[in-house]
Amino acid sequence: MRRWLFADQLGPHFLDGAHQPVLLIESKAVFRRRAFHRQKAHLILSALRHRAAELGDRALHLKTETYREGLRRYGEVVEVSHPTSRRARDFVRSQEKVTVLPPRGFVTSHEDFAAWADGRRGAARLDDFYRHARQSHRVLMDGDEPAGGRWQVRVTDGSRSQALPPAPTPVEDDIDAEVRDDLDRWAAEGIEFIGRDGPRQFPATRAEALDRQQQFLIHRLPHFGRPDEMLSDDPWLAHSGLSTSFNMGLLEPLPAVRQAEEEYRAGHAPLAGVERFARQVIGWRDYLWHLYWYLDVGYPASARPKGTSSIPEWFATLDAESVHARCLSAALAAVRDRGWAHNPMRQAVLGNYAVQRGWRPTDMVDWFQRAFVDGHEWAMIGNVVGMARHAELGSLTAEAYAVSGAHINRTSDFCAGCRYDPKQRVGADACPFTGGYWSYLHHTRERLHGNVRMTRALKQLALIPDLSEIVTQERARGDAAP
Ligand code: SF4
Repeated sequence: MRRWLFADQLGPHFLDGAHQPVLLIESKAVFRRRAFHRQKAHLILSALRHRAAELGDRALHLKTETYREGLRRYGEVVEVSHPTSRRARDFVRSQEKVTVLPPRGFVTSHEDFAAWADGRRGAARLDDFYRHARQSHRVLMDGDEPAGGRWQVRVTDGSRSQALPPAPTPVEDDIDAEVRDDLDRWAAEGIEFIGRDGPRQFPATRAEALDRQQQFLIHRLPHFGRPDEMLSDDPWLAHSGLSTSFNMGLLEPLPAVRQAEEEYRAGHAPLAGVERFARQVIGWRDYLWHLYWYLDVGYPASARPKGTSSIPEWFATLDAESVHARCLSAALAAVRDRGWAHNPMRQAVLGNYAVQRGWRPTDMVDWFQRAFVDGHEWAMIGNVVGMARHAELGSLTAEAYAVSGAHINRTSDFCAGCRYDPKQRVGADACPFTGGYWSYLHHTRERLHGNVRMTRALKQLALIPDLSEIVTQERARGDAAP
């Protein structure tokens, strides 16, 4: 039977056999509904069209207004792997001529996760799930024990990252040129995008993804897992840059982790980096995926009409120039220019600022999903909603998402050139992250009470002499660009 592939199901592991016919549908309505980053739209269309070209006669490639129209045009029964969003899942289930198969592209099955999590509601912790996944799939195991004797291995080298070779940039081709022309035309027709166009930065084909994975294994894996760090002149550091490839289905998670393990077993990469990579891929990534379905956290802001977002315009439209806070300006510029910023920037700067200002988590999920090339609802709900609400969601194990300017100062080189002072809580030079942090703690102190991670911070809060001044100052700052 013909297999319908969404744009996040493009690798060979989404097909059965070398001859299976394929249906690929480009839905323009997806881009009409919400303003995506221009480079994200480019990557999705480029990947779909490259896959169609690779498959040749096996692929029926339809460019339509909606998926419904595409299915009507094809007219016959198709099968599809379980989609990655509730909206898409509900749609495919509603179609008489679509058979929905179990999900692919993740390591642990729905059934295995449910069996593990049932009876653990409220205590289905990431650390436990990660151990379960390591044991079940025999990853970094020496007999019954974790390799090296510990489940989590810390990077002990505290020195700053050394410069690493840049990740290989894909070479654009005629398909990319055609995509660029089409997007220019769509923009002229009134379809809105955010961010800047630019050379495609992320793999659109499996070959490009494997190339990047190989480069990661050689150059970045040995340095992977350093403590959160942000450097103004290096947007990539030792981050893998593989998330788009996993999330578009170009790479398969478990084989990638096994290859990283081989690097460790061969003595080419330290256990700390390899374990951290495994934790991210078979631990955190799978955990978020399963929580999205298991906890049934509901639709995010995508269902909300345009224009009711709690996120201010300057942030939503990536207006980095309007922001004086150096770290925040740099993070917005990174997203504006490539639709991607590494995790410390997402969490300590972008997500942190949103949490401090009380922007609706569902709006942030929507924004991350549209602005980031690797943003998917299932990943963002856990990352943004879950971590922002870590105090209430006992089932999520996450670091506190709100941090002060002191943390950003400790982990980056941004503060040295900033017009604000990370140590100042009040006054003209007060860092918006520091003032915002204490103000946030003040407003949420009752909710955070009893959360062991916040005990120390709440004790400090009680000792701050100028708290009412801080709260007044941050209220006045409001949502204006800092
Ligand atoms: Fe960011 Fe505050 Fe540091 Fe400026 S001083 S870079 S706003 S943390």
